[in-house]
Amino acid sequence: MFVLPVLPPSSCDGCGLCCVGIGSPVLLYASRPGFGEPHPYRPVGLPQDLVEEIDSHFSGLTRGQEPQGQCLWFDAASRQCQHYELRPQICREYELAGPSCLIRRQEALENGEDFPARATLGATIPDGG
Ligand code: SF4
Ligand code: SF4
Repeated sequence: MFVLPVLPPSSCDGCGLCCVGIGSPVLLYASRPGFGEPHPYRPVGLPQDLVEEIDSHFSGLTRGQEPQGQCLWFDAASRQCQHYELRPQICREYELAGPSCLIRRQEALENGEDFPARATLGATIPDGG
């Protein structure tokens, strides 16, 4: 099967690919050995219930050991961040249609990943087609 390059997206609607399969950026907020409280990357004003959810989810883990399925804050039904206004800096810097976005979408195209905005990726041409 021949795979064409992905089309640059104009929106994140129905995508969310950068929030799945990569562990969790919110680990940056978790308590880790050697850090006092609060964690240096924890934003001021993060609600206590979210602090407790994060600390519970990542208890005893360091980066790379977290569940890799999807970010703790990703809502698979809406394909959106549940706490977008509180998202970590790394998520704020992740550029729509930037290099990392296009690489992730190319990977999804080649792997045949199924998600609502799949049609916006581009096209594959079957062998002999
Ligand atoms: S991979 Fe790109 S288009 Fe998809 S959600 Fe992330 S930034 Fe948006
Ligand atoms: S914090 Fe939100 S924007 Fe960042 S990876 Fe998780 S779900 Fe996506």
